[in-house]
Amino acid sequence: MWGGAACAGLVAALVAVALLAGVGGEGGTGGDAAPTSTARPGAVTTAHRPPTTAVAGTPASPAPVPLPVPAPPAGLPGPLDCAVAPAPRPLDSARPRYVADLAVDVVGGTATGEVHVAFIPDLAVDHLVFRLWANGPRSLGAGGGLEVTGVGASARVASTEQPDPTTLVVRLGAPVQAGETVEATVAWRLLLPFRADDRVAFGEGWARLGSVVPLLAWEAGVGWALAPGTAGFAEASLAPAADWDLGVRVAEGYEVLATGALVGDRWLAVGARDVAVSIGRFRRATAVVAAPGPVEVTVAVAEGLPDHPATYLATVSDALTSFAARFGPYPWPAYTLAVTPDLGGGIEYPGHVMQGPSAGDGTTSHEVAHQWFYGLVGNDQGRDPVLDEGLATYAELTHLGVALDPAAWPMPDTALGAAGQPMAYWDQHADSYYEGVYVQGALALAALGPPDLVDCGLRAYAAENAWAIATPAGLVATMARVAPAAPAVLASYGIG
Ligand SMILES: [Zn+2]
Repeated sequence: MWGGAACAGLVAALVAVALLAGVGGEGGTGGDAAPTSTARPGAVTTAHRPPTTAVAGTPASPAPVPLPVPAPPAGLPGPLDCAVAPAPRPLDSARPRYVADLAVDVVGGTATGEVHVAFIPDLAVDHLVFRLWANGPRSLGAGGGLEVTGVGASARVASTEQPDPTTLVVRLGAPVQAGETVEATVAWRLLLPFRADDRVAFGEGWARLGSVVPLLAWEAGVGWALAPGTAGFAEASLAPAADWDLGVRVAEGYEVLATGALVGDRWLAVGARDVAVSIGRFRRATAVVAAPGPVEVTVAVAEGLPDHPATYLATVSDALTSFAARFGPYPWPAYTLAVTPDLGGGIEYPGHVMQGPSAGDGTTSHEVAHQWFYGLVGNDQGRDPVLDEGLATYAELTHLGVALDPAAWPMPDTALGAAGQPMAYWDQHADSYYEGVYVQGALALAALGPPDLVDCGLRAYAAENAWAIATPAGLVATMARVAPAAPAVLASYGIG
């Protein structure tokens, strides 16, 4: 995602660097909150500690890295052959399968829903954990909330409890063994905050419902993800790639865009970690983009907003094509972008993105990049936010031609070397979150070598971790196959 008050610093810094780099247009000038950063264009900072082994590119003289790739340190796999497209890891055939139905009252700002999920754990479990992200601190603070109204399971339900607002624990009467299927149903009702700058909100003629369906927070080989909900803008924890069959009921006159492809009156998605729904009366622009397979792209702008769908469509199409060439094929047959009011920046979902009005090319391409780094390659957004935000920012800024020169990005003390910190840390240092995770994550990658080499590593990382939950250690190991100094360089930014 890109937005919220915390991103103001990045916007200011991006504008500064974009100006320095001669990048025109809308990059970073989008609908985020007013800049509050003290970042100065071209300021030479002593706050950032450039990694001593880094090969940091500069606008004037990108540092050369000899090719072919040198041998990595002992104990790691051999260097990557960048001439060979890596084969993606296959989607787990035992992935969860959700059937969900929502009924949304856009005028009243309420919704009811029910989800049925078939789940095959790879470890024995005696309870299920659903995360209720609509009860995150940000949503509750804005007056929203989700109330569970019913729970059922194919195994006997011994008890249910909510140890915190975002966590629903369903204790089973008998354990489910690894490889066995357990089915569960959760029903709920939802209060949408009025005009909230968030993924759950409603206003006159529109509604956003992101992360409102209770999700199984299962990490294969590890177990349930129980980290507390963060106050950060649209961050959650993790969810496995899953199949979805989603129905959305609204009153006549409203239109729906959602994760997946519309088949009949259902939104069907394969390998999606979460789903989101945007409702409104829209002006649309559509195109079919080769990424490299055909991807149906739809941009929809809510009635009353001055934004032009065709402008976003061009940016999305360009970014999809570019990122597919750099990081591997776009994983779904459709991409939809809904622009609705009262949202600063953008929020990514697999195949569907929510953006606020006036978002520039920076936000739009950043959210496209999340389709690879968050969508295809999952991560624990609470534990390792740099894996989605840092990588998406790297993709965005390099796509825009913004030089990633550490000297141009003043780094607050609380961000310096802290790119790998979890959201629990950034909740305490929200003012430096963007510099610390987004910018520093991008700088860390740029420090590994020239863009072609870094892209080669990211393409392999995306293939190796496709549909899975990646870790910082996995990123370091893969990048070490194109840049042997990667462990030391990334560690100097706090990644490892
Ligand atoms: Zn983001």
